[in-house]
Amino acid sequence: MKVMKFGGTSLGSPETIRRCAELVEREIRQSGKKPLVVVSAHSKVTDKLLDAAKKAVKGDVDAPFNSVAKRHYEILDGLKLARSVAEPLLGELHNLLKGIHMVKEVTPRLYDYVASFGERLSARCFAAVMRSRGHQDAEAFDAYDLGFMTDSKFMNARPLPDTYDRIAAAAAPHAGKLWVVTGFIGKDKNGDITTIGRSGSDFSAAIFGAALRAEEIQVWKDVPGVMTCDPSLIKDARPLAKLSFEEAAELAYYGAEVLHPSTMTPAMQYNIPVRVLHTFDPDAPGTLITTKAEMDGRCPVKCIVYKEDQTLINVRSERMLGMEGFMARMFAVFEKHHIVIDMIATSEVSVSLTTNITDAAKLESLKRDLLDMPSRTEVNTNKCIFAVVGEGMKHAVGLAARTFKAVAAAGVSLQMISQGASEINITFLVNNSEIPKACEALHKEFFG
Ligand code: ADP
Ligand code: ASP
Ligand code: MG
Repeated sequence: MKVMKFGGTSLGSPETIRRCAELVEREIRQSGKKPLVVVSAHSKVTDKLLDAAKKAVKGDVDAPFNSVAKRHYEILDGLKLARSVAEPLLGELHNLLKGIHMVKEVTPRLYDYVASFGERLSARCFAAVMRSRGHQDAEAFDAYDLGFMTDSKFMNARPLPDTYDRIAAAAAPHAGKLWVVTGFIGKDKNGDITTIGRSGSDFSAAIFGAALRAEEIQVWKDVPGVMTCDPSLIKDARPLAKLSFEEAAELAYYGAEVLHPSTMTPAMQYNIPVRVLHTFDPDAPGTLITTKAEMDGRCPVKCIVYKEDQTLINVRSERMLGMEGFMARMFAVFEKHHIVIDMIATSEVSVSLTTNITDAAKLESLKRDLLDMPSRTEVNTNKCIFAVVGEGMKHAVGLAARTFKAVAAAGVSLQMISQGASEINITFLVNNSEIPKACEALHKEFFG
């Protein structure tokens, strides 16, 4: 059995939804087996839902709700499906928004409850499409009804370790059905709905694939695979035929939007291949991600990725020179403020760190606590982490020189440099405003 995950863009209109249905039918025809389908919300719906929750606090309930309802009814009408497919959930959503308005507060728990409607509606719609095409065994499932359990870290919940076993047990009685399962959402032990972070449906697909020991986890996108660089920025970007789990994990972590950063973990753990495919060009080979890296001596770099809107924090203290425990105390301050560190570089008397936190009040309060170390701390926002990724980089000589020379020649100044022990990436920091220049220079250098 394969897992087929369709993203929001692939499910964005009646026409594209029909294409996805055809792809599922093609899979059944070719393999003789029914896949497990994982769906995202229709494109833009999650944004609309989160916006509706925020506006409900201020008393604006009906207009944002109507916008969500209209999006779903237009899709159902376009597919010639009954509006009753969405009506019960839309009614529940409307009441929930009214409730938020009454209490004039929206907590992370409620944001997750509101956001969950996107995937829940989309799964019901897709199952109804499949049934309308003669697949009477198609059934929509909310992931938590198939055992998907998480911790209670709302808006960024992690699956519980026993989720894999729970899924296997919960799915067994439904064997033989054409499962259409919600991505992105789960439930915690208290029975509250959680979400696993924006773009999390790729991760959900990998978890279901691992739990059910799928042959393959397919993620269907609006691009022909993982590409050498973000194709919306670099027109010459080309798809990569093969990647290793490590390469894919690295490039997802450093910002390649095409895959959610946690997707590789379950796939790697259970050694299940992940294939990134193009919904609108299904015969294109896409990208196959497995344990094995494909080495090409002429091109050790596979991909150039970037993560914008990062914050650079420079902590400087003469006291740290040879002093035991300085780093431990400094990290404790970051921990206290729940600030996750991405890049780090040290010198004799200073430490530079980056984080994706941009909230001015939070950064100011961190700065105050760091003053007690004692230290001088400077905070600079609007930075971007670039990463050049490829397993072939482990043994290649002169790649750092090529990387930095190319960027410098484009007039971009580097503010921090780091290379992890895995040696499959080189990362550096530039200003947000220099992203296009740096991207172009690097792509030209490594991919001509
Ligand atoms: P989904 O429909 O599953 O939500 P996403 O929109 O999250 O899909 O991911 C696909 C998008 O990722 C593409 O439209 C593309 O602009 C962007 N992207 C960024 N970096 C890359 C890359 N290296 N390769 C392919 N796509 C990329
Ligand atoms: N619908 C969710 C989001 O927009 C999850 C996903 O698309 O993967 O973030
Ligand atoms: Mg996505």
